Amino acid sequence: METLVAAASLIAVQLSGMVVMFGLMRAAPHERCTRYWAASAALAGIGVLLIMLNNGAYRPAILVLGNNFLICGVVLQWCGIRVFFRKTKMIAGWAIGGAFFLLFGLLVLQGAGVMQRSVLSSATILLLLTMSGIELWRSQPRTGGTARTIALGGCVLLCASYTFRLGALLSGSSSGLSTSTALPGLAMLYIIPTFSSLLLWSGLLLLYFERIVGTHQHQATHDELTGLLNRRALTIDGERALSLAQRLHAPLTVAFIDIDHFKDINDSFGHEAGDRVLVEVANIFRQTCRNVDLVGRYGGEEFCFVFPGIDRDGAVAVASRLVQTVRMHDFRLGRPVTASIGLAVTLPEAAQRDWHALLREADAQLYKAKHAGRNRYCIDQPRGEVLSLPQQMAS
Ligand code: GH3
Ligand code: MG
Ligand code: MG
Repeated sequence: METLVAAASLIAVQLSGMVVMFGLMRAAPHERCTRYWAASAALAGIGVLLIMLNNGAYRPAILVLGNNFLICGVVLQWCGIRVFFRKTKMIAGWAIGGAFFLLFGLLVLQGAGVMQRSVLSSATILLLLTMSGIELWRSQPRTGGTARTIALGGCVLLCASYTFRLGALLSGSSSGLSTSTALPGLAMLYIIPTFSSLLLWSGLLLLYFERIVGTHQHQATHDELTGLLNRRALTIDGERALSLAQRLHAPLTVAFIDIDHFKDINDSFGHEAGDRVLVEVANIFRQTCRNVDLVGRYGGEEFCFVFPGIDRDGAVAVASRLVQTVRMHDFRLGRPVTASIGLAVTLPEAAQRDWHALLREADAQLYKAKHAGRNRYCIDQPRGEVLSLPQQMAS
């Protein structure tokens, strides 16, 4: 393969990376990482183009420009990865870029040969790529971590090709030089870097999409104030949990919880204090429930729970604990906050009930709890009696 074709493919990959990242940057200007990545791909592409056109000759201006563009591109890629992972300090990358600028300038001024210049640029790129790899490695993988694996794979391959190149240069082999036309040299210099850059850019792009999709999915399914499931997600997950319970012949409990006299809290302490109570109540619920339970804000100061595998006795125990925990919690209002709960249990032996029937029953029990004096739970007993907390708990 011709050096020209191999180098052109590498430049094409960089420039397509630039076009995609530039498009994303225009679509979401507040996302700073795409700005860094668009600039990185552009500079790296121009850098490789200048180095290729120079073809190892001693042209100081083109040499300095080409190599510094390339290094700057790699620094910006690292910066973009840091920004993506919400890290702010980028001094290390720019310090390495600055040191390269000075050292490379000195080498060119002294008329150093292509071998020395290539050693310096390869070692610098290897260092910066290793730093990018470490950032990717340390990151918490999102759903499945595929994007991170692809980006990391590209980074590792690039590091490997630059390590081999450095090894070849230090051992005096000409296959490490950008002018090399032998297949090992072409593979190390252009073919592997082209493939690895493609992987790295694709991985970064996928990381970006994974985050956008994850954020949107979270926003679509969670309540903004409390972070609990929203009504829509609760309904979807609740229906799924109910059909699973019915298939497994397992019990399931649905509970409605409503904060008592919440309007008074808003009126007496302000809307902000009301919001704080909602957040604290949500935290109590999260801590009191198991991971398999569904906890959601149904609307206003009303919450809904789904307890898979919980039968009547379990429902009573959980409801009693929830009522007590809310009652005992210090909301820093100088008075207790209480909640009422309505419970509906579906048992394996009972006739199949649908989700809406369960909700209706839990709502009816909540209504009873409110009318019985609040600060209590109610559950429909087999004989139809109302089971509620002893009166002293309600005081
Ligand atoms: P009850 O014991 O019968 O449940 O009485 P209540 O005052 O809790 O119920 P009501 O339905 O009369 O009032 C609910 C209040 O909740 C009215 C509404 O302004 C307030 N509210 C709803 N959503 C929010 C919210 O997101 N933040 C705050 N601070 N208040 C909210
Ligand atoms: Mg209320
Ligand atoms: Mg209410």
